[in-house]
Amino acid sequence: MNTALGTVAFVSLGCPKNLIDSETMLGGLASEGFVITPEYRGADVVVINTCGFLDASRQESLETIGRMLELKQRGEVKRVVVAGCMVGNYRDLLEREVPHADALVSVNDRAQVTSVLRELRQSGELARKAVISDPDARGTIYDDRRRLRLTPRHYAYLRISEGCNHTCSFCVIPSIRGRFRSKPRDQILQEARELVADGARELIIVAQDSTYYGQDSEGRKTLHELLAEVAGIPELRWLRLMYAYPSQVTDELIDLLAREPKLLGYIDMPLQHVSTPVLARMKRGTTGETTLRLLERLRARVPRLTLRSTFIVGFPGETEAQFEELCGFLRQGYVDRAGVFPYSDEPQAQSFELDGKLPEAEIMRRHGRIMEVAQQALFARNERLVGQTVECVTEGVSQDPKYPTEGRSAMDAPEIDCTLRLKGEFAPGQWLRARIVRSLGFDLLAEVERA
Ligand code: SF4
Repeated sequence: MNTALGTVAFVSLGCPKNLIDSETMLGGLASEGFVITPEYRGADVVVINTCGFLDASRQESLETIGRMLELKQRGEVKRVVVAGCMVGNYRDLLEREVPHADALVSVNDRAQVTSVLRELRQSGELARKAVISDPDARGTIYDDRRRLRLTPRHYAYLRISEGCNHTCSFCVIPSIRGRFRSKPRDQILQEARELVADGARELIIVAQDSTYYGQDSEGRKTLHELLAEVAGIPELRWLRLMYAYPSQVTDELIDLLAREPKLLGYIDMPLQHVSTPVLARMKRGTTGETTLRLLERLRARVPRLTLRSTFIVGFPGETEAQFEELCGFLRQGYVDRAGVFPYSDEPQAQSFELDGKLPEAEIMRRHGRIMEVAQQALFARNERLVGQTVECVTEGVSQDPKYPTEGRSAMDAPEIDCTLRLKGEFAPGQWLRARIVRSLGFDLLAEVERA
């Protein structure tokens, strides 16, 4: 083991796009000769890849950095490097809260993390401290190939673009990651082939807005063409679409969802709300009416559809009636898997200037209430799955001795959706057909039909 350049441990926080950033940084470090270790204690450098999206995620990032700095103080870690989405927009906060970090590398400068660590190693002491945060880098199209993967071997995230052109009033991501830029198709295809050659049989499409793909580089939306090409990779089994934007979903994409067997009838499409006045204040460019029409079109043309969505409650100006409208929408089962967030009043977001802000207690009351509604809808939906046979993949060991294998059906994305508990012991990464015999609410019990 050549430890000349030292050992590096990583903490990856935030969304799948941040996870890909961690994987590419790790891939770059490993190819340069750094030794990657899962152990923080004893590592020469710990890199924390932060999330800056919401106050809650920034708090989590600061706490994590704080823990690593404690290890440094105790001499169990030599250097602490902070990377990711917090560095660009929240540098002052980092300087104030974690002044003893050795380097700050913004999300858009992540390609430079290797030279920062190399300099740190060679100089023994970086001129306190390196802050790499170049605003022009917000226009870069990144190369996510040669990753060191952090996901289980059988699935991988495939990012197709960077940044976002939407102006949702509650969101700071465009100011962090810059304007939308599609990755070149051939680069994505080569990356997809690399991931499949590396054992991935499920590819999960991610972006800030996957459905805008091609609009900037080809002058028209070409996600459906790209997905059809990726689905053409022989060994690939599942292709899962995440982060669709309602107003950008095309008929061509819906057609492909209906007819391409590898493209799962699964679509993650954050709707955020269904009340037209609230959607207008959110600057979503959609209305309650256009949303319902889109969902009806999807349901009509994609019979095997599983729709995941996320919502925000307690947005400034949201009335009780508008909140109830959203509860009613969830109760009717328009979406199959739902995540709901309490509104977070972000100082760098446009919505920070809005009137009609609700007291925190009221926001949390609504959040608690709607989580119950979402859970009841989910449990009712899962109950209706009992008796059905589904395609699934094994993921590991479950805590249930009678159903010792944990798995995931085609209707469930990793980490965020429901899990299957399978009768019998199976190694991870097996593709099986299983009959659902019982619903436990979030989890489903299933018996394997054919290996
Ligand atoms: S689509 Fe809206 S919420 Fe999503 S990243 Fe873009 S601005 Fe933010």
